[in-house]
Amino acid sequence: MIDVIDLKKYFPVVSGIRSLFSRSRGKVVKAVDSVSFQIETGQVLGLVGESGCGKSTTGRVLLDLEQPTSGDILINGESGRALKKKNRKTYYRRIQMIFQDPYGSINPQHNVASILSRPLMYQGIRDKTIIRDKMLETLDRVGLSPPEAFLEKYPHLLSGGQRQRLCIGRAIILEPEFLVADEPISMLDVSIKSGIIILLKRLVREQNLSLLYITHDLATVGHLCDKIAIMYMGRIVEIGPTDDVLDRPGHPYTRALISSIPIPDPSITRSGAPISGAISDPVNLPSGCRFHPRCPYAENLCRQREPVSAAVKDNPEHGAACFLTDKLPGFDLTKGHRC
Ligand code: SF4
Repeated sequence: MIDVIDLKKYFPVVSGIRSLFSRSRGKVVKAVDSVSFQIETGQVLGLVGESGCGKSTTGRVLLDLEQPTSGDILINGESGRALKKKNRKTYYRRIQMIFQDPYGSINPQHNVASILSRPLMYQGIRDKTIIRDKMLETLDRVGLSPPEAFLEKYPHLLSGGQRQRLCIGRAIILEPEFLVADEPISMLDVSIKSGIIILLKRLVREQNLSLLYITHDLATVGHLCDKIAIMYMGRIVEIGPTDDVLDRPGHPYTRALISSIPIPDPSITRSGAPISGAISDPVNLPSGCRFHPRCPYAENLCRQREPVSAAVKDNPEHGAACFLTDKLPGFDLTKGHRC
């Protein structure tokens, strides 16, 4: 079980010597602001939102690529913060990441054997037979077969899909308990996206790991995710089981995201309210609900107070942070929301 508790990541608007003279001194961008969620073992949570909402920063903080301002992650009950203090290598063995860009996230001068053996060697495994066997097993597991044919290849000889499979192999070779995949299919051709989704789904089941799947594409989460968390301006505004969130969204932002998914059928028209306007200035957050400048249902209360998450339709597993969750007009977008 992965338990992320009240995670925050604030970036100063200006830093260093410039902060002494700048009018923005002391101001911060709250990229991740009190984010909490749980992922059971063998489950996939989709973290969805538009660009700049803080979803990738959440992944980077969990991976220790950015220092959190506060908060913690429990990996099967053990504090990530304590683990990092005790033994950083152990933390990195238990949590791994798949990056968005399969071209930029592997070194073009290293061959497949070098790329896959590095995590093992970093963890102190030196036995060449063990390393080779593990590499072959991993290549086979991610669908790069026959594995012997790939070991000596360099990245430029691999297609985009094969490179992403290699990146996935590098992430799972240490058999982590928690995997973060940051937009893993967004740079791939449409024809190979579904292969990667199927692979991730199989690996979660076979290796019994927890997966955080970060994406801006709500259309793909229905295929892969058990739960969805919708993020807006650093906060999770809705979270719940995939079917509940997609069929009965309790937050106007979720409704707008669903209504923006194209349906490949001109006879079906969307009835939801699309959002207008641009995302607010993250340095000067709006008062009350952060979504109110773009929300078609905003009331005075929304401008004054920030809503907290409450159960949608009395379902304790499905929560939305909106004052009007139970008063929103009917919503029927069940057709075609999974492409
Ligand atoms: Fe819209 Fe108000 Fe709900 Fe915020 S709290 S999403 S402004 S209705």
